[in-house]
Amino acid sequence: MSTDALFHINITNAAYIFAAILFIVGLKQLGSPATARRGNRMSSLAMLVAVLATVVGNEIMSWEWILGGIIVGSAIGVYSARKVEMTSMPQLVAIFNGFGGAASAVIAAGELIRLINEGAVIAEDVSITIMASVIVGGVTLTGSFIAYGKLQGLVPTRPLLMPIRNVINVALLIGMIASTVWLVIDPSITAFLIAGGIALALGILVVIPIGGADMPVVIALLNSYSGIAGAATGFVLGNNMLIIAGSLVGASGLILTRIMTKAMNRSLMNVMLGGFGVEDGASASGDEETRPVTSIQPEDAATMLAYAQSVIFVPGYGLAVAQAQHQVRELADLLKQKGISVRYAIHPVAGRMPGHMNVLLAEANVPYDELKDLDEINGEFQRTDVAVVIGANDVTNPSARTDTSSPIYGMPILNVDQAQSVIMMKRGMSAGFAGVQNELFFLDKTQMLFGDAKDSVEKITKEVKDL
Ligand code: NDP
Repeated sequence: MSTDALFHINITNAAYIFAAILFIVGLKQLGSPATARRGNRMSSLAMLVAVLATVVGNEIMSWEWILGGIIVGSAIGVYSARKVEMTSMPQLVAIFNGFGGAASAVIAAGELIRLINEGAVIAEDVSITIMASVIVGGVTLTGSFIAYGKLQGLVPTRPLLMPIRNVINVALLIGMIASTVWLVIDPSITAFLIAGGIALALGILVVIPIGGADMPVVIALLNSYSGIAGAATGFVLGNNMLIIAGSLVGASGLILTRIMTKAMNRSLMNVMLGGFGVEDGASASGDEETRPVTSIQPEDAATMLAYAQSVIFVPGYGLAVAQAQHQVRELADLLKQKGISVRYAIHPVAGRMPGHMNVLLAEANVPYDELKDLDEINGEFQRTDVAVVIGANDVTNPSARTDTSSPIYGMPILNVDQAQSVIMMKRGMSAGFAGVQNELFFLDKTQMLFGDAKDSVEKITKEVKDL
């Protein structure tokens, strides 16, 4: 190898090491709200360095193609990130996971086709890593699109159970392993197509039976898969940067999956087998509700709050939909001025993405020490005069404790039902994301305040000011 080429490789590897350090420090900083923005910028810079080093350091293809790809990709990225509503961010993340998996699978497939067409002898380790990338990438692609469909309301969020689904999945798994072995022994496009096709089908079949409440686990896992597929493609191409970046995504996704399974009190196997708490052939209950509830007006809610000594706000996905965080903070400030103790109860899966409520409330400058985790706040509800539920539903549903047939059975919930009284803000009687009715609505202590949360909070604030 010429000294010139060696110099080139050393510079590229030095850039990769620099990018890897930036990725790791960036990830660390994403762990705290105070440093998250800096962490995001650092990780973006790492990606830029990695892409530039790869493009400059390897003669991949002509500049026109690379530039064209960068322009089209950046335009789509900027457009979708700017246009998407905050409440649709989880859907965007699901799609990005899917495309990440697809990109890895397509690159690995391209490499396989090139090697077969050139009549090259394909070493076993190369064909195995190619298939790992194609299979994990394929499952990630279709699985992420089903997750997107569930989040977007295009696919029912209730567990959709097919009879003998586990038998079908096991048969597909065996077919996938068999075709991979075939490809390793005798590399052929047919074996590759069978394994790839099965992977795409498995992605759909594995995610479809999983209920809405378990989607946080699924999304975290698919995120990790997209990293694993990327790392496998890194091995196929012999690209160190892709191996490092893929492994970081894979590992952090797995850590997030672990946090989410803990938050849901599930084992990963529970979630992946799907249909938690629902018998085969049945579906979770979400029937039209006819039981009576007590409803109140904002003026009554204002009186309850103004004469309370302690209040806990319980935000959920509806807070994000209503974008009521600033109004909630204003109301909280007003109550605090009257000497009332105010805290916020944060459930780990409230909203539609990890940390959703923390981000929303931070945007409204709610003091961080007023946000209390589930473990910290759950013992406090019984000593609290009023719990105000703002667009939260599943995370407050007491049936998660007792109803073994419920898709949310076993999930730790916020003990809102133990407060002295409850104000439940929502627009109507619809069920939560998991598709199950909330028993909290029908308790004697619960007062339903129907309407858009932002509207209701504004009216309450106005009334409290006048009291
Ligand atoms: P839910 O989705 O269970 O309930 C949200 C409630 O908000 C609905 O019942 C809805 O009722 C109400 N709502 C919607 N818009 C408004 C509005 N403008 N004003 C007032 N109320 C409104 O939310 P939770 O936060 O309690 O639970 C989150 C669920 O999402 C869990 O099942 C969780 O597992 C799942 N999930 C969480 C993810 C995460 O990472 N955090 C990711 C994916 C899923 P109505 O229509 O009657 O107004």
